[in-house]
Amino acid sequence: MEHTTGIVLEIQRMSTEDGPGIRTTVFMKGCPLRCVWCHNPESINPKPQVQWIGVRCIGCKTCVQACPNGALTFDNGIHINRDICKGCGTCVEVCPSTAMELLGKRWDADALVKELLKDAAYFSTSGGGVTISGGESTFQAHFVKRVLLALKSNGIHTALDTCGICNQSTLAMLLPHVDLVLYDIKEADVQKHIEFTGKSNVQVLNNLTFILSFMRDHIFPREVWIRTPLIPGKTAREYNIRAIAQRINELLTIHPRAITRWDLCAFNNLCKDKYVRLGLKWELANTPLLTKEELDHYGAIAKQHCSNPAIVKTSGSTRIEESNENIAKTKKISVCFCNLP
Ligand code: SF4
Ligand code: SF4
Repeated sequence: MEHTTGIVLEIQRMSTEDGPGIRTTVFMKGCPLRCVWCHNPESINPKPQVQWIGVRCIGCKTCVQACPNGALTFDNGIHINRDICKGCGTCVEVCPSTAMELLGKRWDADALVKELLKDAAYFSTSGGGVTISGGESTFQAHFVKRVLLALKSNGIHTALDTCGICNQSTLAMLLPHVDLVLYDIKEADVQKHIEFTGKSNVQVLNNLTFILSFMRDHIFPREVWIRTPLIPGKTAREYNIRAIAQRINELLTIHPRAITRWDLCAFNNLCKDKYVRLGLKWELANTPLLTKEELDHYGAIAKQHCSNPAIVKTSGSTRIEESNENIAKTKKISVCFCNLP
């Protein structure tokens, strides 16, 4: 099978959080995990999906009449029956005010590479490149391989952002075309990992061992960055940070220079509206951000327990408490786009 096309959610330019330098990040559709904190809920479903943006809607009902499947109704706003919707995009084409949007577009691999190469000048001046993210980057592995292969043959630095839920044969197919692996270790405890993401972390941890062993015997990938989301009441626990540090220490004995960075990414709630547009309830919609003191504390725990403290970084937005009125404001430090799939 040729796999010359794939479903891409978004191409994000000028990213500075998904690897070194200025990067263009390709968000693929489809993810095997169901993380309760998912920041890209629109990337989970592998198929294209429509969403309605209420503030743009002028209430003309053109979309309702145009839908060939009767999936739309208008009752104080547009309602999408997602059991019926086929993602055909007709409503998006006819809407006069861009209130209907299609999430996910089929791309030809060669056309995507051509599009990505438009940013080559930024990559060469900044030491950047292209990051394939998601969703889960390995979910459409054969398509992604074609894209990575073409990018590498054009001298572009490549990064693969993965949650580690995939076969080792898939990794073995992709890794030779990747400079940097961005790898999530979200939770060390198996039961909690199942509770938070829907799947065990056994495959995640085994696959990381596989990647480091692969790196010992091959030129590519050249480095791995571990990413841990700090989710209040979930993964943001001292025990979890200590246990992940322990795991990283064990891995560093396999390949001492392979893991060059461990990012602790603070929870943010910028994705709240995405859930609303998709008609989904989000368990963490009202969860407060970490305070700067909490983020610094987890960073200090990680540095204390990691055998190479220099690789530990923290990033993300934190909360400022107004002492007397207990009103939380957010202070933007930097946005972490760790693949919180
Ligand atoms: S066609 Fe667009 S503007 Fe008109 S009702 Fe539908 S979503 Fe709203
Ligand atoms: S994408 Fe197609 S099936 Fe779905 S609501 Fe729009 S027109 Fe109807």
